Amino acid sequence: MADAPDPKPQSQSPLDKEQRQGLNSIRDFLRKRTSYDVLPLSFRLIVLDTDLLIKKSLNILIQNSIVSAPLWDSHASRFAGILTATDYINVIQYHCQFPDEMNKLDQFRLSSLRDIEKAIGATPIESVSVHPSKPLYEALRRMLKTRARRIPLVDVDDETGRETVISVITQYRILKFIAVNNEHNTILLKKTVRDLHLGTYTDLAVARMASTVLDVIDLMVNRNISCVPIVDSENRVLNAFEAVDVIPCIKGGAYDDLNGTVGEALCKRPEDNPGIFTCSEDDRLDSIFDTIRKSRVHRLIVVDDENKLKGVISLSDILKYVLLHDEEDVAKS
Ligand code: AMP
Repeated sequence: MADAPDPKPQSQSPLDKEQRQGLNSIRDFLRKRTSYDVLPLSFRLIVLDTDLLIKKSLNILIQNSIVSAPLWDSHASRFAGILTATDYINVIQYHCQFPDEMNKLDQFRLSSLRDIEKAIGATPIESVSVHPSKPLYEALRRMLKTRARRIPLVDVDDETGRETVISVITQYRILKFIAVNNEHNTILLKKTVRDLHLGTYTDLAVARMASTVLDVIDLMVNRNISCVPIVDSENRVLNAFEAVDVIPCIKGGAYDDLNGTVGEALCKRPEDNPGIFTCSEDDRLDSIFDTIRKSRVHRLIVVDDENKLKGVISLSDILKYVLLHDEEDVAKS
C-alpha cells in the first residue's frame, strides 16, 4: 500500500502575499513611530479638575466641541483618568436607578464618577496610559487589549515623580495617522471585507427612529458597544446612534429628554457631524483606508445593494486586523 502523501504546504496566492507584505510594513511603521508623532504640531488640551460639577463639565465639552477630557486631581496632583461619554451614560443610569436623588445628582462633582460607577454596578474601565515616546505599536496594543477607545499620554518627571498629561490619542486618530502615512502600504490590502470577515455580522443590536434614547442607551450598555444602527421596518439603514450622541441630550440636566425618540436626539447633533459611512462586503480594505484618509470615519455600516443592514465595522475591528491578524505572539500578550 502506498504511503499517504505529505500534506501540501499551504501555498499563498499573490493576493495573500501582497496583503501580508502590506500588513507587515504597517506594523513596522507602528513600531518605528511613537505616540508623540501622532500629535499635531500645535494642539490644545482641555483638562478638567475633578472638583468641577458634573453638570458644568457637560457644558464645557459642548462649548469646546470635544467629547472627552483628561481629569486632574488637584489635591493629589495626579492624573485621574479620562472623562468620556461612558461616564455620562453611567450618570444617566444612576438617574434611572435612583430617581429620587435628582438634587444629589446635581451636586455631584467629577470626583464622584467612580462612586456612581459602583452604585450602578458598572464594570470600571481599566485605566491605562502610555508614555508618549513609547512605540505607537505598544500604545495601540494596550488599547486593543483593554478595549479602550482612547489612551492618555502621560509623562513622569524623573526627579519629582510628578505626572503630566501630554495629550490623549484615540483609535480614530491612530487609524487616520496610519492611513495618511501609508498609502503605499494600504494599497496592497486588496482583500475584501467579506474575505477578511471584517466586523460583526450576527446578532446586531439595532433600533428604530421611534425607539427612546433610554432604550438605545440600555442596548449600548448591555452589549458593550459604542454605536447602534438605526433601521426602518425593512432593515434599511437610516442612521446610527453613537455613545457621544447622549451628551447634547442631557445638556442642562434635561434627563427627561431621554424618554424622547432617537429621531429627536439625532437632530441635536452639531451641524458639522459627518453622518454615517457605509460600505459593502465587496469593498476592499484599501478602499476603506482611502475613505479613512479623506473623511472623519468613526465606523462603517455594511449594507447590501438595497441599503439593508448587513454588519458593523468598528475602528477597533480594523485596528485589530491590521495589528494582530496572524500575529504569533498574540496569545502571549
Ligand atoms: P465598538 O464598541 O464600536 O468599538 O465595537 C466593539 C465590537 O462590537 C466590534 O467588534 C464591533 O464590530 C461590534 N459592534 C459594534 N456595534 C455593534 C452593534 N450595533 N451590534 C453588534 N455588534 C456591534
